[in-house]
Amino acid sequence: MDINYDVIVIGAGHAGCEAASAAARSGAKTALLTHRRDTIGVMSCNPAIGGLGKGHLVREIDALDGLMGRVADASGIQFRLLNRKKGPAVRGPRTQADRRLYREAMQKEIAQHRNLTVIEGDAFDISADHGAVSSVTTKDGRRFGCGTVVLTTGTFLRGLIHIGQTTIPAGRVGEDPSEGLSGTLTRLGLKLGRLKTGTPARLDRRTIDWSAIGSQEADEDPVPFSFMTDRITTAQISCGVTRTTEATHKIITNNIHLSAMYSGQIEGVGPRYCPSIEDKIVRFGERDGHQIFLEPEGIDDPAVYPNGISTSLPADVQEAFIRTIPGLENVAILQPGYAIEYDHVDPRELTPALELKKLSGLFLAGQINGTTGYEEAAAQGLVAGLNAARCAAQQEPHHFSRSDSYIGVMIDDLTSRGVTEPYRMFTSRAEYRLSLRADNADLRLTPIGISLGIVGQQRSDRFSSYCEDLDQGRRVLQSLQVTPNEAARHGIKLNQDGQRRSAYELLAYPEQSTTSLQALWPELVSVRPRVQKALETEALYAVYMHRQTADIQATQRDEARVIPPNFIFDHLPGLSNELKLKLAAVRPANLAQAAKVDGMTPAALALLLALIRKHG
Ligand code: FAD
Repeated sequence: MDINYDVIVIGAGHAGCEAASAAARSGAKTALLTHRRDTIGVMSCNPAIGGLGKGHLVREIDALDGLMGRVADASGIQFRLLNRKKGPAVRGPRTQADRRLYREAMQKEIAQHRNLTVIEGDAFDISADHGAVSSVTTKDGRRFGCGTVVLTTGTFLRGLIHIGQTTIPAGRVGEDPSEGLSGTLTRLGLKLGRLKTGTPARLDRRTIDWSAIGSQEADEDPVPFSFMTDRITTAQISCGVTRTTEATHKIITNNIHLSAMYSGQIEGVGPRYCPSIEDKIVRFGERDGHQIFLEPEGIDDPAVYPNGISTSLPADVQEAFIRTIPGLENVAILQPGYAIEYDHVDPRELTPALELKKLSGLFLAGQINGTTGYEEAAAQGLVAGLNAARCAAQQEPHHFSRSDSYIGVMIDDLTSRGVTEPYRMFTSRAEYRLSLRADNADLRLTPIGISLGIVGQQRSDRFSSYCEDLDQGRRVLQSLQVTPNEAARHGIKLNQDGQRRSAYELLAYPEQSTTSLQALWPELVSVRPRVQKALETEALYAVYMHRQTADIQATQRDEARVIPPNFIFDHLPGLSNELKLKLAAVRPANLAQAAKVDGMTPAALALLLALIRKHG
């Protein structure tokens, strides 16, 4: 036996880095065993972090002192707060990242952990003793003893790349697949499935006619992911916006039989909400064009990621269709797009701690559990790493719940419903989304992280001081009172009911803010900006929070409602086509069964309920 560890994390992608960090922060002697040290923190596909639902996950990881938020802040080159005009509950922080800066920042974070050792190697087998994990063996014959293992092999398990009719065994472009571990998982009697994902060609920035296309700018006031980042200091860039044309569609249609996806060569299921360009043309061909964002992969990087045209067509067809797109007529392709198929484990094999039910001490996180996306992988990594460390120390597992976090929503979805296609996070998956906001992730989760021992002193101190400021600010707002007459003299219109209202109550009016109320109470200027924003959101949502609770109770009652056998799901307005198809295939007998259909959201359930009620 080479060395013994409490926890061995296999794979240093997004899940593996968070898992290793969480295990090490929990105090476990941890090893991060991965193919190559220099690929720690590599972004396999799009150079971006966050977005709707995903941004919430990043904030939650950060609130638990995980790495992703800080690393994204150190490498983000185009911060945008999505849904800025909508309510705070559905705003999604997002940034494009400089690939190199992201990788370097992640490697720096990993190197800073005291009880974390990085080992280069190909994990080939995992052994068990008396029904519990005992060691990991590498392909070159080294054996490491351990209390627990976290497996985070991403798209590498029997990975197979497809470019047209060409197939290449690989974990991602230029890297060998992981062959041995699929055998280990099969030996354990686990249910394995096959999924697929895809990526577009990479374009040479110097050969794009940027003057011929539109652009999208970064926000003027970049909002950081991490509660520990005061200000974003990386340079911010804009990205290009263009569209496919009729000529693009024609080339794709004429060559569709050559696409790996449409020739029957790929057996794995891909994410329908993140379709390839072939999918878009086949399914929505009547549209006159599909939007493409040209996202530079870094400040000094010549590669550009054309977001929206992932493909598995042959390389020459890719070049032909890409050159029909405005701005790309003379573009040079640095690397063709491809699809990749890989093995995944049915996540219903896992407990809510992400430990296998069939083998104590073996935890799984990331793409291996049927999810897609860096953020989903990272969030699972944190949970698995934390619980692997707790298991090695013979402590009780910690389960996140649907009511405390998107992390809890995702893990409950995965472990109770399984997946039929790669799972990604959407805000609509959460039934408590008014309380599970990106802006309050620290209030929801940092106290939990502190009690679990995974939050460092610096964050803990900053959090305490923020909570004190928040309490103080709330007290001030509640103590300042005004009558409707006095308010009217300062231009604030209220019901003339003679009732005194506090500044806190006035913030429930969407048109009011701590800034507008300074006309009445100039002292509000002294409340810290983050505290002002937090109290505005808290006051705005206070009344809705009561309604949310009542709605949840009513939905639970409605779950028993029967769906008529002749019900036509196609007639449901506002539902995605894929959900309609799934409902028609499953034909749930009642609302409770419909709720369990993969991809079903609380909003879709409400629509279904309304129509059933109408049916009588
Ligand atoms: P990965 O990031 O894949 O990391 C796996 C790590 O494990 C690597 O470091 C690897 O070297 C290591 N490893 C594997 N096997 C072994 C072994 N036996 N021994 C030691 N180390 C091992 N996500 C989206 O959200 N949208 C997309 O459009 C999208 N498209 C994608 C397209 C492609 C072609 C690929 C490859 C991925 C795509 N993804 C996409 C997925 C995204 O890259 C993953 O969700 C994310 O990287 C998963 O993180 P992970 O940590 O689970 O695995």
